Amino acid sequence: MKEAHDPHRDDPLPEVNPNQLVAELRTLLPAESVLAGREQQKPFECDGLSSYTVLPLVTVLPATVREVQGVIRLCRRLEVPVVCRGAGTGLSAGALPCAHGVLLVLSKLDRILDIDADNLRAIVQPGVRNLAISEAVEKFGLYYAPDPSSQIACSIGGNVAENAGGVHCLKYGLTVHNVLALKILTAEGEFLELEADSAGPDLLALLIGSEGMLGVVVEITVKLLVSPPQVETLLAAFATVRQASQAVAGVIAAGVIPAALEMMDKLAVTAAEDYVGAGYPRDAEAILLLELDGCASEVAAQLQSCQQVLHAAGATLVQQAQDSAQRELFWKGRKNAFPAMGRLYPDYYCMDGTIPRAAIAEVLEYISQRSQHYQMPVANVFHAGDGNLHPLILFDANQAGALAQAELFGADILEKCIAVGGTITGEHGVGREKINQMASQFNDAELEQFRRLKQAFDPAGLLNPGKVIPTLKRCQEYRAIRNE
Ligand SMILES: Cc1cc2nc3c(=O)[nH]c(=O)nc-3n(C[C@H](O)[C@H](O)[C@H](O)COP(=O)(O)OP(=O)(O)OC[C@H]3O[C@@H](n4cnc5c(N)ncnc54)[C@H](O)[C@@H]3O)c2cc1C
Repeated sequence: MKEAHDPHRDDPLPEVNPNQLVAELRTLLPAESVLAGREQQKPFECDGLSSYTVLPLVTVLPATVREVQGVIRLCRRLEVPVVCRGAGTGLSAGALPCAHGVLLVLSKLDRILDIDADNLRAIVQPGVRNLAISEAVEKFGLYYAPDPSSQIACSIGGNVAENAGGVHCLKYGLTVHNVLALKILTAEGEFLELEADSAGPDLLALLIGSEGMLGVVVEITVKLLVSPPQVETLLAAFATVRQASQAVAGVIAAGVIPAALEMMDKLAVTAAEDYVGAGYPRDAEAILLLELDGCASEVAAQLQSCQQVLHAAGATLVQQAQDSAQRELFWKGRKNAFPAMGRLYPDYYCMDGTIPRAAIAEVLEYISQRSQHYQMPVANVFHAGDGNLHPLILFDANQAGALAQAELFGADILEKCIAVGGTITGEHGVGREKINQMASQFNDAELEQFRRLKQAFDPAGLLNPGKVIPTLKRCQEYRAIRNE
């Protein structure tokens, strides 16, 4: 996926001598931790949204918090922009480098500093992989709940910056509900420690989801949960997407909050089935996967309620996983649905919008109509219980104009999410990708408050510039285009 973008449009253009910058960075970090030039920095030119690429001026890979602090202070002194990067799995070009700045890669800070099983908490560095936390505490019968599908690779620092979600966030909440404290370095290079439930404005919640624009996260205290004694998984198949959508609303209305409630449409089912053989019914127009957890009596009652709702909504099949192997297979299909798309089309563009559950059918029907308009297939695989859509627009970027069309299609979907009372992001963030739609989601007064907030934390505007908050000019241009 390679087409021209204009990623610097909102960036400041500070004057900095690259040689001076590299020389000074090499006084702070070992030579192998300071990368310059095209060849060395090529792997860092984009995140998971690879249609946006920018080569940074310099890439640094500090191994200690002191080194991170040194880099930030130097950049502050020289007025050089700083973009943080965790594992680079983000899907909104949030970690897209700044051509005139330093890319601060935090992946070497990958130590689990403390596990306090008695008090259900762990202290970790930002480069620790999401899944590594649950793996480390499994021996205590504990786990870390937010589980993005990218959890094998993505970093907890990136999760904090994006307020990442996952399959189990319906019941257990997003990252913001599972982080107890943060240590951050401000744009000035000063330490700031933020805790949940402390007095005053909730700065912890403000920092979570701030996409590397307000501070650099250098330490995270996460909440651990006790692994539930019983877990059951249901697979339900439907002849129409509308019936499946009604079943989602019905389950929640019945008073059940499943640990997970996911939907896949026919194209996603077929692709996942071809890829991993999860045992999904190929003739279904949509399937739901429900996970119920808790103590035995609670799970038994929930199973009964869900089965009733699913049948009442018209399910053609309701199948309970017979053992842990079948349960894992059901989930393997869901977790591999994204990579499975690679077998269908050379490229896919993953959108991420959140809508009220009651609007799921309407929005999926709209997406299907736009799919015909743009002549681009769409697979839907998403966190239905949260109303968090992930339409995957399939296309071939080698065809002239295809990427631009896919982006227009994506913009239509986001605008529809706003129109039904939803938001332009559920968990992937705004980054560079959705900066235009911020002008639709928010009015000028609201955007001005965001700008003031950013200025309060980062007066020189050096942390992740040109992301998330659009300039007034950009807002005017985008609104004019959409109103044409
Ligand atoms: C196949 C696939 C499936 C995915 N599934 C999900 C999913 O289910 N749920 C979900 O929420 N996301 C999902 N994602 C998106 C992505 O994995 C998440 O956004 C994740 O949180 C990004 O983590 P990262 O370490 O890769 O961050 P990066 O991509 O490196 O960075 C993301 C943002 O965080 C900032 N940042 C990174 N580290 C720090 C730090 N220490 N301090 C301050 N800012 C920092 C960056 O500047 C950037 O703005 C998926 C991605 C892929 C490729």
